[in-house]
Amino acid sequence: MPLDIVRSTCPHDCPSVCALEVEVKDDGTIGRVRGSKVNTYTDGVICAKVARYAERIHHPDRLTQPLLRTGAKGSGEFTPISWDEALDRVASGFQEKVRQYDPTTVWPYHFAGTMGWVQRRGLERLRNDLGYSGQIGNICTFPADAGWRAGVGKILGPDPREMAESDLIISWGGNPVSTQVNVMTHVAKARKRGAKFVVVDVYHTPSVEAADEAYILRPGTDVALACAMMHVLFRDGFADRDYLAQFGQDHQELETHLADKTPEWAAAITGIPADRIIAFAHEYGRTEKAYIRVGYGFSRSRNGSQQLHAVTCLPTVTGKWPTKGGGAFYNNREVYSSTIDETLIQGLDVADKSIRMLDMSRIGPVLTGEDPALADGPPVTAMLVQNTNPALIAPDIGKVHAGFKRDDLFLCVHEQFMTDTAKFADIVLPATMFLEHDDIYSSGGHGHFHFAPKAIDGPEGCVSNHDLLCQLAKRLGASHRGFDMTALEIIDETLITSGLGGIAAIEEARWIDLQADFETSHFMNGFPTDNGRFKFKVDWAAHGPYHAGLSALPDFSPKDIDAASAEHPFRLVVPPARNYLNSSFTETPTSIKREAKPVVKMHPDVARAKDIDDGDLVTLGNQLGSVGVHAEIFADLQPEVLIVEGVWPNAAFPGGLGINVLISAAPSRPASGGVFHDTAVWLKKGFTA
Ligand code: SF4
Repeated sequence: MPLDIVRSTCPHDCPSVCALEVEVKDDGTIGRVRGSKVNTYTDGVICAKVARYAERIHHPDRLTQPLLRTGAKGSGEFTPISWDEALDRVASGFQEKVRQYDPTTVWPYHFAGTMGWVQRRGLERLRNDLGYSGQIGNICTFPADAGWRAGVGKILGPDPREMAESDLIISWGGNPVSTQVNVMTHVAKARKRGAKFVVVDVYHTPSVEAADEAYILRPGTDVALACAMMHVLFRDGFADRDYLAQFGQDHQELETHLADKTPEWAAAITGIPADRIIAFAHEYGRTEKAYIRVGYGFSRSRNGSQQLHAVTCLPTVTGKWPTKGGGAFYNNREVYSSTIDETLIQGLDVADKSIRMLDMSRIGPVLTGEDPALADGPPVTAMLVQNTNPALIAPDIGKVHAGFKRDDLFLCVHEQFMTDTAKFADIVLPATMFLEHDDIYSSGGHGHFHFAPKAIDGPEGCVSNHDLLCQLAKRLGASHRGFDMTALEIIDETLITSGLGGIAAIEEARWIDLQADFETSHFMNGFPTDNGRFKFKVDWAAHGPYHAGLSALPDFSPKDIDAASAEHPFRLVVPPARNYLNSSFTETPTSIKREAKPVVKMHPDVARAKDIDDGDLVTLGNQLGSVGVHAEIFADLQPEVLIVEGVWPNAAFPGGLGINVLISAAPSRPASGGVFHDTAVWLKKGFTA
């Protein structure tokens, strides 16, 4: 069958945002998906799950008809209805609630199921136009954002392609082999030159497998490791005092503060022997071109912002930022936010900043009426959910489910598959996938801004996020001019008002490289803080509401995390599985086959002590609930650490409730965000539903 090759962009919630080349057959189906060799970050490489995207986009279980709930909430019992009837029901459902309370009773809720700016963030325009409750985002990166900004000032950094020129690359708190494969492309180039690749993580991941060396520590203790490394760097002559005098703030106070943060102190906290901490610090200290690729994992903790800030202190103490191939990188978000004009996409011209904001990470407490933010307004009684699956991936899903079951909540879910959240909906609407609509994409993991036009028709009955909002807007009385425009018209105007020349300017190349120049991204003329200096001592109150008691200088306290205790002696971490991406791809046959089933990885000593064999059913529990899962004996982690990779659908667990039933909706401090890897639990052999 003849093939056309179309260029596109991966829309999934992954910092790589790969430039794609997609085989399109003359019957409108797709074949193999490949990474663009022309794009200097993608460099011809993409992950296997997207390479086989035909499995997902042509999946027989895709939703293609609007559905009306006929059974109990959560039962998944629906009957097909027409689009007109579905839209009328959604509009009247929302209007009835608004009449009963006020517009803030409606809470549009979305996240990064698509990273496209028009299809993802258009829901903000509806919210702003009609005065619905706001969404404090985001569930994913707020802890890391606050930690990076605390010291550096703005979320940008040295070009990640410079890793190819580094001599030491440290992946700290991330697993790029599984979740950002392109990082490894640039690591591989460096290794060909003799560079070393080191991983800091809480268990033996595929990235650890690929590394020259790894430091496997206890969850939430990275800040202690970074403190002890800084102690050694100051003590043993690796601190760059000239650099600190010019670009550091409060570095003398930091040095004094670190005097008792010895390798022995950190060894007792992290589980990494003191001599290895010293060796790590020395290697880092003496390697000029040392690049820390900061991951997200270690920030998803109550102390996540402190953890991330402490790691950014390392290249500052050693003055590595100005070196090509040196410094640290987390995300390039503020390269885009300072360039792209989102007024039209989000309807910022009609936004009322006084309207109440609800924390998306705390959707459980919000829906059950426990969130303090509700005191300022009515209960949430109507929701439109796009691009996310909070009944599975949000913290404390026991509360999320209880909220979704409320009789007085009207829930509309616009989705590609019958997700755990869609099962709770009153109305389910079928959505297009990225190749079936137009959009533009930024890329947290590098600096390209992409244009990806529609490549194929979606199944009959599927509607894009933008088109759905335009149709709903008419019924709801929203009058923003964006609802009378096509997605392409919005993209064109956004590019023009952002100074990027419109679609014509981006169409041929498909992306624009917005990576900040060398001087800016290496902070050669100072950090983007109020005084140009990196802040070792942080005023956490400036970074979020949950700042009380946080140490201004980098420090570890068990009080800052959900520490292990006699009652809950294990620390649970729930990292991404290689073949899934959040809850996406949990429907594709090859991904399911490769992941097999949810398991809890546990140290052999723990298994032996509890008489647990490989494959046994066990129960994990805490004050929020309990989860049944099969055991996998796994040597390379600290003995009190348990790992459950996912995110597996609720139904994959013997009790029908997924692992996030154990994850607290407590906010990460100071800015909120999910604390997915900060959970103390008990473990016992066996499971009773
Ligand atoms: S590596 Fe990430 S961005 Fe690239 S194709 Fe896979 S999921 Fe998409």
